[in-house]
Amino acid sequence: MSTVSAGLVNCPSCGAPNPANAEVCTHCSGRIAALRTELPSRLDIVLQTLGIFLFAVGFVLLLTAIYFHQSIESPIFVAGAVGLVAGILLVASGAYLRSE
Ligand SMILES: [Zn+2]
Repeated sequence: MSTVSAGLVNCPSCGAPNPANAEVCTHCSGRIAALRTELPSRLDIVLQTLGIFLFAVGFVLLLTAIYFHQSIESPIFVAGAVGLVAGILLVASGAYLRSE
């Protein structure tokens, strides 16, 4: 008595068939849930990853600028602010793409 045959998805890592509702591969424990939305959401994942990275870099740069009492026109302050804003915009546009 198996109910697994209702729908199988192949693991993106090892290719093993898994139940359609599986979150992780029963064979290699790799993530499967991500595969289902891979095509439509690949761009927003890239955007959001980039955005979080930029945000983190901008944040660190801003903290560094503040820590060393840099003026607001100093390159490190400006770079930090730009990174922070760009990061937020990227994350927001990624979220927007995902919601469509
Ligand atoms: Zn696997």
